[in-house]
Amino acid sequence: MQFSFENTVRIADAAAGKGLGTEIAVHGWVRTKRSSKSVTFVELNDGSCMSNLQVIFSEDTPVPEAELERIQTGASLEVHGVLAESPGGRQSVELQASAARVIGEAPPESYPLQKKRHSFEYLREIAHLRARTNTFGAVARLRNTLSMAVHNFFQDYGFYYLHSPIVTASDAEGAGELFQVTTLPLDRIASQETELDYSEDFFGKPAYLTVSGQLNAEIYACALERVYTFGPTFRAENSNTSRHLAEFWMIEPEMAFCDLDGNIEIAERFIRALIEAALRESAEDMQFFDKRIRPGLIAELEQLLASEFTRITYTEAIEALEQSGKRFEYRPSWGADLQSEHERYLTEELYSGPVIVTDYPKEIKAFYMKLNDDDKTVRAMDVLVPQLGEIIGGSQREERLEVLRRRITEAGLSPETYWWYLDLRRFGTVPHSGFGLGFERLVRYLSGMQNIRDVIPFPRTVRSVEF
Ligand code: ATP
Ligand code: MN
Repeated sequence: MQFSFENTVRIADAAAGKGLGTEIAVHGWVRTKRSSKSVTFVELNDGSCMSNLQVIFSEDTPVPEAELERIQTGASLEVHGVLAESPGGRQSVELQASAARVIGEAPPESYPLQKKRHSFEYLREIAHLRARTNTFGAVARLRNTLSMAVHNFFQDYGFYYLHSPIVTASDAEGAGELFQVTTLPLDRIASQETELDYSEDFFGKPAYLTVSGQLNAEIYACALERVYTFGPTFRAENSNTSRHLAEFWMIEPEMAFCDLDGNIEIAERFIRALIEAALRESAEDMQFFDKRIRPGLIAELEQLLASEFTRITYTEAIEALEQSGKRFEYRPSWGADLQSEHERYLTEELYSGPVIVTDYPKEIKAFYMKLNDDDKTVRAMDVLVPQLGEIIGGSQREERLEVLRRRITEAGLSPETYWWYLDLRRFGTVPHSGFGLGFERLVRYLSGMQNIRDVIPFPRTVRSVEF
């Protein structure tokens, strides 16, 4: 038996009828094995879909007893046989084995993923094996579907995919949540208690992992008009929540000749397109999430597709919260950021759907957002969804040179560092806008999973990094 892409059928294709009635070969990992006196049933999964392929070893299958013994939960297997329609049963097809070979055993006394269900907390500790469970297989496939949908959406609208840098010299958010990148010998410096000398560092000055590709995207938007980034982003925020990661993937479209209204329109269409793609292209996995993870999920998403996105200003949001008569842990007050509990009240109780909040106080938003004529608020927009809260943060950018210079200074940053950013306003400036969508927040929302750590293959959070 030789491996070849040509004679091997993926289980998803077999389930759809590919090779029906003929001799095929499949590979995969054993999920369960059941034996009666005369027949052995093996459920095989190769990750191509949620469903397992039922493999039947009947009495006259020429597979030695000793080889059958080695087929245990978790073992990897190659099976040849005739693909037949399944009489009755849950699956449409089954494989009548004519030959089988265990490629790698999984001793039952030590293989952790036996039949019973494990908690997500436990599975995080064995993240190298959790991909072999139904839930994590489904999450991985959903991420794939959504990634392709992101590219399709923007390509259809004439955006160019921009590779923004991972190492940067500036804090795009001005929030100071940066991981530093350095080759300085920190151990030695600490023991000698000498000053850091950045001229000795790799880049000759401090450098960081990017918190956002936005500023770089602005450069290209001011040349190609429409671009988007889709890459890893890093934030050293010490927030141990179910919606923050230290390393996450962010999608950031940036559009020239576009104001806040255009920005909101694209954001809304984008969210709808992603939900539609998930329901259409990951139907089997979405059914699983709906049944096992969050009952009612599909109906909720369909309802969202049918509903309007409510649009209110930050000032209106604060008024609504004050008048709600609700007792919040943090009292809403003009000038303070919206808390998660406030976002949930707006989306789940007051408007029962997505809410777009615009025009936040300048003090709580980044320096690059366009200042309104009131001199108090900026052209920001956050898209809030039920269950999750903020899924998108965006704004129209400040395109006026003098105003931007003043805002950088007010934010305690130095205009010299941002000379290139200011140049964009000096030469051919245009109104432009964009937003950032955290990919894992999206996946969490569309899968109904509760914790953001369970929708990224390898989560990195405060005090936790492995592999
Ligand atoms: P939050 O207030 O929830 O921390 P933020 O205001 O810091 O969000 P932005 O700077 O606007 O977020 O980033 C844009 C988007 O990136 C957010 O809307 C969110 O979807 C995502 N995001 C931000 N921080 C994280 C994080 N630590 N982990 C995962 N996603 C994140
Ligand atoms: Mn944050």
